[in-house]
Amino acid sequence: MNYDVIIIGAGPGGIFSAYELIQKKPDLKIAVFEAGHALDRRKCPIDGQKIKSCIGCKSCSIMSGFGGAGAFSDGKYNITNDFGGTLYEYIGKEQALELMRYVDDINMRYGGEGTKLYSTAGTKLKKVCVQHDLHLLDASVRHLGTDINYVVLENLYNDLKERVSFFFDSPVEDVAALETGYEVRTSGGIYTCKKCIVSVGRSGSKWMEHLCERLAIPTKSNRVDIGVRVELPAEVFSQLTDELYESKIVYRTKEYGDKVRTFCMNPKGAVVNENTNGIITVNGHSYEDPSRQTQNTNFALLVAKHFSEPFKDSNGYGESIARLSNMLGGGVIVQRFGDLIRGRRSTQSRIDEAFITPTLQATPGDLSLVLPKRILDGIIEMIYALDKVAPGTANDDTLLYGVEVKFYNMEVEVDENLESCLKGLYVIGDGSGITHSLSHASASGVYVARQIAQA
Ligand SMILES: Cc1cc2nc3c(=O)[nH]c(=O)nc-3n(C[C@H](O)[C@H](O)[C@H](O)COP(=O)(O)OP(=O)(O)OC[C@H]3O[C@@H](n4cnc5c(N)ncnc54)[C@H](O)[C@@H]3O)c2cc1C
Repeated sequence: MNYDVIIIGAGPGGIFSAYELIQKKPDLKIAVFEAGHALDRRKCPIDGQKIKSCIGCKSCSIMSGFGGAGAFSDGKYNITNDFGGTLYEYIGKEQALELMRYVDDINMRYGGEGTKLYSTAGTKLKKVCVQHDLHLLDASVRHLGTDINYVVLENLYNDLKERVSFFFDSPVEDVAALETGYEVRTSGGIYTCKKCIVSVGRSGSKWMEHLCERLAIPTKSNRVDIGVRVELPAEVFSQLTDELYESKIVYRTKEYGDKVRTFCMNPKGAVVNENTNGIITVNGHSYEDPSRQTQNTNFALLVAKHFSEPFKDSNGYGESIARLSNMLGGGVIVQRFGDLIRGRRSTQSRIDEAFITPTLQATPGDLSLVLPKRILDGIIEMIYALDKVAPGTANDDTLLYGVEVKFYNMEVEVDENLESCLKGLYVIGDGSGITHSLSHASASGVYVARQIAQA
């Protein structure tokens, strides 16, 4: 029950920490504690027939388990410092990119070989966008797809399990500092380690907050992004998605000067529910395998909200808006853009008559009753702006699902080694509030493992 290193959380941050530790120091005794299930036991019960919406499982298979929140994601690894986190502020831009490329190489060796790497370098679309006051951010995007992403995780696990002890369905209850390391408490027992890597992701945000309070680790509040998921015929966005796959476009609204941005674009993908701490929001993904693709493309349009004194609870604000949509729609609400503009709710018959088939069964409703006016106005303005580079975006039948909320963990104070004020306690990945993507979270795992191996 004594380890050299204990890793809490088996998402990309935890997995890549374990991977790199065994490369650099094969003799280390390493354990990983994960609140969710092993990969092969992760199954969301929603089948669209018997179970149509979230039933609030004790451990959400979408968010938790080996592979973390990314296991059934679209597997888009964005190699960039322009978005996905601020890891570069701690470790430098060059090193951050180098680590993201290193992670990409590993993914290729573990089953991702043959998947496409898209890039904005030299694209003419940048000019087309800027002519309409839309700003395309620079990135290389490896699209593994939900199917290949799973294969990569499976291969990584089969390799790691030989040299690392994995404890699934084992949420860590508490961590206490000892003179020589840390004590990690779970319902299954108490374990000790010399170094502890905390990588609990978004689903561990509340737990992380409490841990920081108990261990007196300073934190600061982060932003929350609120918006909708847009779904339209794949042809409308094909000019962008065929070349770039994912385009991160930022627009500054004329009315309020707020920034609205596209996020998580899924060509020929599906819109899905996301359960964060019991609140149902919306997300999207797509498959690499053409036989599993749909006719539609989806992406989020998000507005960032920051709060300062006297109100600091950005996530609480986002949660309240999501709860309102859950209250009105019993889950996610869907509305046609034409209905929104005409100030009327969508009904099932209006959705059925549309020239697009929704990929998520959501409750037809009125998003103007849920989203604050300023946010909704910004989203509508951006839809009209996007219509100039992708005509058809502002079509009456374009579907808007709400709400999409990107919660960010509060930012944990760590140094340039990603080590907290407690020596030997590292906080990485989305749980640190520093990263919010697969590539940044994975890179932070590799980085911390190298710090530990060097020490
Ligand atoms: C549907 C969906 C699609 C996404 N698509 C993309 C995408 O295409 N590209 C992209 O870059 N990002 C995507 N993301 C975000 C991406 O998944 C995360 O940024 C990434 O997984 C963060 O990795 P992490 O290791 O920091 O945290 P996580 O992946 O959240 O992993 C943390 C793990 O810690 C476990 N845990 C929490 N608390 C405890 C505890 N107390 N004890 C033990 N274990 C605990 C959790 O169960 C979880 O498995 C998506 C997210 C979702 C939900």
